[in-house]
Amino acid sequence: EKFKDYPLDNAIKRALSELGFKQPLEVQAKVIPMIWEGKDLIVKSQTGSGKTAAFAIPLCEKIDVELDTPQVLVLTPTRELTEQVKQDIADIGKYKGVKCCALYGRQPMELQRKELKQTLPHVIVATPGRMMDHLLNKNVKLHDIKYLVIDEADEMLIMGFKEQLETIIKKIPKERVTLLFSATIPNEVHFLSQEFMNHPEEIQI
Ligand code: AMP
Repeated sequence: EKFKDYPLDNAIKRALSELGFKQPLEVQAKVIPMIWEGKDLIVKSQTGSGKTAAFAIPLCEKIDVELDTPQVLVLTPTRELTEQVKQDIADIGKYKGVKCCALYGRQPMELQRKELKQTLPHVIVATPGRMMDHLLNKNVKLHDIKYLVIDEADEMLIMGFKEQLETIIKKIPKERVTLLFSATIPNEVHFLSQEFMNHPEEIQI
């Protein structure tokens, strides 16, 4: 099957074709239809498998660009991954008008605060530490978040972000879809999913 046969907005199809994405990769073929069904998912997949587009494509499709509030929050372990995910979402959502902000450490808070105010992003991609800082400063509200993506969950737990993750997740409305991606699924990742996910299905790539 090809992306042009998917029930996607033409604006998204145009972006995918420009990126040279013709057919869904395995992770995308499995994950995209399940996100459309509104399921919570635990996806065991490696970097390089195409996992970013697996959530970016359906979530860009779901975003209401008429709304000026963040609807998707992606939490990632590192500054580099945050920038990469933000760029991938911006590329896929560009013709639809999806706006995205990246928040991470070692960059002035004030710069990011202004960017949040000016951009009014639909999607926030953030590392847990910096996300906490912006929440404490009331620079960002999470009351309209409908999709939470926990990317590289195993790495985030290894890096000691557990408490910050829990604090952030508790501030997001419970009526949401939670998508967890991880290269490995150790017990700690299972515990996190039991705490914060709603009968998740597990997908192995
Ligand atoms: P990721 O695992 O998200 O880091 O993606 C790995 C690479 O695969 C990235 O360089 C993407 O641009 C590329 N990619 C993702 N989806 C597709 C697709 N359907 N067709 C071709 N390349 C893709």
